[in-house]
Amino acid sequence: MTETPAPTDAELRAAVMDISRGWCEWPECRAAATEAAHIHSKGMGGRASAQTLANTMAACPMHARITDGELPPSGTLRLYGAEVAGLFERLRIDPPSGAAPGSPRLAHAIAEALTAHIRRERGWATL
Ligand SMILES: [Zn+2]
Repeated sequence: MTETPAPTDAELRAAVMDISRGWCEWPECRAAATEAAHIHSKGMGGRASAQTLANTMAACPMHARITDGELPPSGTLRLYGAEVAGLFERLRIDPPSGAAPGSPRLAHAIAEALTAHIRRERGWATL
């Protein structure tokens, strides 16, 4: 049996830009998407097998950084916290208590919330 090769970054980017029509897929963000971000990022424990359309979203620069699980640059920590709190609030999900910005536990919770959101927004059945 031959395995289907994982899509390339360029293929995933083209696909999510098409699905999103070029807009950021973060809940209620109205910004233009500039990049394709891994929802469960490779850098925060996502594996190479995470290279799928279901794990990739179109994102504006700010939401791409948050989605990638990067610790925000100093001076933007308050904005980061507000964006993350807003994400859980809009999706009616309890945020993990005591998880620090940039921590793997918070990144995982953000990724799970975004995965559920993306599936609903794209009209995909809940898996
Ligand atoms: Zn955005």
